[in-house]
Amino acid sequence: MLVALLKNGQRISLVEGWTKAQLVKLRKNESFFCPACQQEVILKLGNQRTPHFAHKKEGTCALEQEAESQYHAAGKIDFFHWLQKQSISAQLELYFHQIQQRPDLSIIEQGKVYALEYQCSTISETLFCKRNGRYKKAGIRPIWVLGAQHLQQLSPYRFKLSRFHWLFAQNISPISPQPLIFYYCPRTKRLIRLTRFISFSSYYTFSVPVIEKLSDIQFSDFLSYPSVALPPVFWSEWLEQKKIWRLTFPLYRGKINRAICADFYPRCPPALFPPEAGWPLQHSYLFATPPFIWQTYILLFLEKRGICSLSSIYNCIKEKMKEKKITVRYLPLARTYHYTRAVYEYVQLLEHLGYVRWVNRQTIAYVKKWTFPKTIEEALLKDCCLLERVERKQL
Ligand SMILES: [Zn+2]
Repeated sequence: MLVALLKNGQRISLVEGWTKAQLVKLRKNESFFCPACQQEVILKLGNQRTPHFAHKKEGTCALEQEAESQYHAAGKIDFFHWLQKQSISAQLELYFHQIQQRPDLSIIEQGKVYALEYQCSTISETLFCKRNGRYKKAGIRPIWVLGAQHLQQLSPYRFKLSRFHWLFAQNISPISPQPLIFYYCPRTKRLIRLTRFISFSSYYTFSVPVIEKLSDIQFSDFLSYPSVALPPVFWSEWLEQKKIWRLTFPLYRGKINRAICADFYPRCPPALFPPEAGWPLQHSYLFATPPFIWQTYILLFLEKRGICSLSSIYNCIKEKMKEKKITVRYLPLARTYHYTRAVYEYVQLLEHLGYVRWVNRQTIAYVKKWTFPKTIEEALLKDCCLLERVERKQL
């Protein structure tokens, strides 16, 4: 905690230009209280960490459920100074009594109130949703920034994002094409914006990171989606990913995977799924399940039906979700798009490639047969040929 109350109720913030000697003197002459629970707190002036307040007894204050790290405190102070430099009205750790929340920074900009939350520790989904619900009720818009120490970057564009990370995927404006996730590192002073999510599986995802010095960007950059193109390397990474699915998926021995393999047989062994399945789409991140699985289900369904309505395809996916063979990603802060959007985009892609045709606005007909490769070599070759045509369609 960097803010406390004095005996007379006055707010005291430790970021506002105190020298160590002044703070030592202040500690001798004053008592300090927590703005939330009113209990007395201690001013800590060690050499290792930024001066801060701490409750005398841990765990007695509802707002102090997470112990605050030095990393967190440093980032919070960076954001505060950064906002001050832009002459934006911001308060550190302001306690909102009505909703019992104390965001790291509360910001008023162009008549709107924002709560900037810099999250460095893991919190439960329940607590996360409760906090967001409270902000919503009070008309405050939360902006969540994760501590960059959470970020697992496997290669320039490949990330491991757990269910916890995806909680922080935010739609920052009603017209953003996709959500994004913010990360900040107080050591490098860099803000990382993960954009253009195209997921490979429930954990692994492709994303284009936009990395900038905090001092080089404005608060308004937190409210607009950066325009970034997919790098050309994306397509070769995607092809590599399809190969990995073909070679490794049948080896995973989980119960769900076995059930999926059983569904694909006898029409196709899982490694030889049709090359027409397993393509990236702008909204395929809405599924946690790898695209080759839900797309193969659609292909098998279309083949069986010949002509069918869009809603029957949506129902087919819904059935598989009930059986837990397909899962939708949990995105509490990015609810603009429903997973059917991704299904619709897939049907459009199949139409573009000449495999289906619209009979009317709701009905499609299967007009060109999917490929069922006999060998892995044949499958990989066909994946490669189709890639060129999909790539040309762009995302
Ligand atoms: Zn307290």
